Amino acid sequence: MSNKEIILSIRDLYVNFYTYAGVVKAINGVNLDIYKGEVFGLVGETGCGKSVTSRAITRLIPPPGRIEKGEILYKRNSEYVDLLKLPEDEIRKIRGDEISYIFQDPTSSLDPLYTSGYQIAETMVVHDRAEWNEAWKKAVELLKETLIPDPESRVKNYPHEMSGGMRQRIVISIALSNDPKLLIADEPTTNVDVTVQAELMDLLRELQRKKGTTILLITHHMGLIAEMTDRVGVMYAGNLVEIAPVDEIFAEPLHPYTKGLLAAVPNPLQKIDKLVPIKGSVPNLIYPPSGCRFHPRCPFAMPICKEKRPPRIEIKPGHYVECWLYAEEVKKKGES
Ligand code: SF4
Repeated sequence: MSNKEIILSIRDLYVNFYTYAGVVKAINGVNLDIYKGEVFGLVGETGCGKSVTSRAITRLIPPPGRIEKGEILYKRNSEYVDLLKLPEDEIRKIRGDEISYIFQDPTSSLDPLYTSGYQIAETMVVHDRAEWNEAWKKAVELLKETLIPDPESRVKNYPHEMSGGMRQRIVISIALSNDPKLLIADEPTTNVDVTVQAELMDLLRELQRKKGTTILLITHHMGLIAEMTDRVGVMYAGNLVEIAPVDEIFAEPLHPYTKGLLAAVPNPLQKIDKLVPIKGSVPNLIYPPSGCRFHPRCPFAMPICKEKRPPRIEIKPGHYVECWLYAEEVKKKGES
């Protein structure tokens, strides 16, 4: 992957939320490169910072949240621009156009007062991609692509006249309407039933293959990760603790949290008596644990884990882990 073109590079990103209870240190120095044309999966428990990271990309962090520090370099017209420094009118041009989102709840993503066709066409018109007539025709085409039956009449329907699965197909059509370079799908199938979930994921994969769109898939569902992604990042308490090609994450997870996550979900290829939950609970990020944020729950914690944050180490090409177990190993090898 290293010779592939980087489309987005998140560097040293910190995001805090200033609540009445205190400052929530939600994102704690995240570094991540996403390659053009890949499907990158971001996985972790609820509240680990996956969605906040994805929303920070186009500065969609609502108050009381604040991006404190970092760079988000996006390749635009063969040059990298820092999305955190672009003027507001420029970032608006990119949002919904070159970088688009599919959020988990189609009901709140859609405006109940407008037809599905209007909402799809409007995205193209606002970004000067088409005039209304042409945009309306393309809206019908998009509904066809997203396998909505009878697209010519569905385009005139309001969101309340459709099922949850159909509404999510409308949201997908809106997200794809301007042929985005990067599609961010944040738990896109959480609110639909399992059969529709499989259909929607097949659809996204197919569209990605056809158009070569880069996808950042946010999920806590390891099955979707296995099925959909090329590479995976595992987040814990605002830190990106492991990044690896998808096969390696399942075959050879390194970080104790990744191992715990995999042991806690059923694996159809392995016969196990019972699932093993990760002990303890997700920390309160107003008072995050010192050093490695996983240390209060980690069965391998050492004194250094409480004191210092582990560095990121590349164990194999493209397989990175933030854990003192490996940092100490590498140090010993270097000394011998
Ligand atoms: Fe466990 Fe220490 Fe590694 Fe953190 S750095 S995961 S506490 S061994």
